[in-house]
Amino acid sequence: MDQEKIGKFIAQCRKAKGFTQAALAERLGITDRAVSKWETARSLPDASIMLGLCALLDINVNELLSGERLDMDNYKDMAEAHLIEMRKQEEAANRRLLSLEWVIGMMGTLGFFMGMFAGSYAVTDPWWRAALYVLGTLMLLAGGQVALKLEQSVGYYECPECCERYVPTMKAVFFAPHFGRTRRMKCPRCGAKAYQKKVLTK
Ligand SMILES: [Zn+2]
Repeated sequence: MDQEKIGKFIAQCRKAKGFTQAALAERLGITDRAVSKWETARSLPDASIMLGLCALLDINVNELLSGERLDMDNYKDMAEAHLIEMRKQEEAANRRLLSLEWVIGMMGTLGFFMGMFAGSYAVTDPWWRAALYVLGTLMLLAGGQVALKLEQSVGYYECPECCERYVPTMKAVFFAPHFGRTRRMKCPRCGAKAYQKKVLTK
């Protein structure tokens, strides 16, 4: 995707519709800084507001991502190219988030052991000792919770029976036996209880 071209196209469509950056931003419920960033090719509109933006500019998502008006001939090719591109971006973003999950989980665990260690050996005052134990435990709980939330919400799980890809509930993830990122859960589509693998895209 050509960010520069997309930015210019957004600016051009916005002006054609008679919106200022601020007016467009207001209708989308975002800041005019965000609009300015798109138009100067520093960011792309979030997927969540693409449809709203397209409706206001009277274009479709495919045209938005192409940075130009499309006719029927090249429409389908562009649509496919964009689907592949968006999938790649989702995959890369999810991979980053899952590495982050690992780091956060490790930090929580490390904080726990440091708190326990320091509480046991570095201080003698019982209040300090208790405070360090509590701190270590809180770090473990906080790290664990953030890591689990990422585990649940990033990417999808795939059912080996029916190949459905879905996002499970927090509760299902929490109680599921697992090794690595593979968890034994009940598939919401076919009901099979099986070990389900994490996948990055739908
Ligand atoms: Zn299934």
